[in-house]
Amino acid sequence: MSNSDGNSHLFIQSVGIKRTTLVLILTAILTLLGSFTLTIASAWNPPIPAFSQTPHTIIKHSIQLPSSQPRPTPPLPALETQPKIHFLASGNTGLSEIALTFDDGPNPGYTPQVLAILQQYRVKATFFDVGYLVAAYPNLVRQEYKAGHIVGNHTWTHTNLTLLSASQILSQLNSTSNEIQATIGVRPGFFRPPYGLYNYQVLAQANYLGVTTVMWDNNPTDWTRPGADIIVNRVLRVAHNGTVILLHDGGGNRSQTVAALPIIITTLEQRGFQFVTIQQLVDDMYKNSLDHP
Ligand code: ZN
Repeated sequence: MSNSDGNSHLFIQSVGIKRTTLVLILTAILTLLGSFTLTIASAWNPPIPAFSQTPHTIIKHSIQLPSSQPRPTPPLPALETQPKIHFLASGNTGLSEIALTFDDGPNPGYTPQVLAILQQYRVKATFFDVGYLVAAYPNLVRQEYKAGHIVGNHTWTHTNLTLLSASQILSQLNSTSNEIQATIGVRPGFFRPPYGLYNYQVLAQANYLGVTTVMWDNNPTDWTRPGADIIVNRVLRVAHNGTVILLHDGGGNRSQTVAALPIIITTLEQRGFQFVTIQQLVDDMYKNSLDHP
């Protein structure tokens, strides 16, 4: 048993050595084979194709990479048309232009007198006419238009538009524009709300019809009949470049307005102002004062 024990021990030892040697040899072979295989693989793998530079060339030509050198900014294109004006209460303060406006006509008693004074002084003005009066006195409206004045929309019945629904506002404006167009052949481009009262809905309906809402910044309240001299003084006191003057040729006794008008015109012309229509005021809104001598 001891021999066999010893023999078996030796055998195991011998096998152990052999196994160790075998493992070492195999490992060495595998390592060699591995590196050989890698060498072959790298030798036989075709090289990563070097891009023929074409894509890079295209990118270079199609994309302008920012250069360190500052490049000149291209000039902005000049505006060929000025933006539409939807609302105004005065004109260009850089120009010595003033607009006379007459509301609540046409009136058979006062409109002819106002027209005669404007003709005498060769002044163009703007009339905001009431629709039902346009229907009643169409010849007066034609005289206004033929003399070179602007005929604007002052609603059909001269009502407070802020108390009306959207469709009622639209009806007031549209019927008046229709009547003016039927009378002079031209649809009005300007609208003035009665009493100067407007809200979002009034402006929205005016915009929908394409009329510019025109207010004022010079109001002598001539309709209260404070006296012709008071009307004149109130206008002159606040007159400035681009001012829009509110006067009335209808809606009551306008004899004081008629009396004040020639003094207003002559005094402001002596001060160097020119009278223009609302259309002219709008056309000149974005003019540079340097454009004028
Ligand atoms: Zn009015």
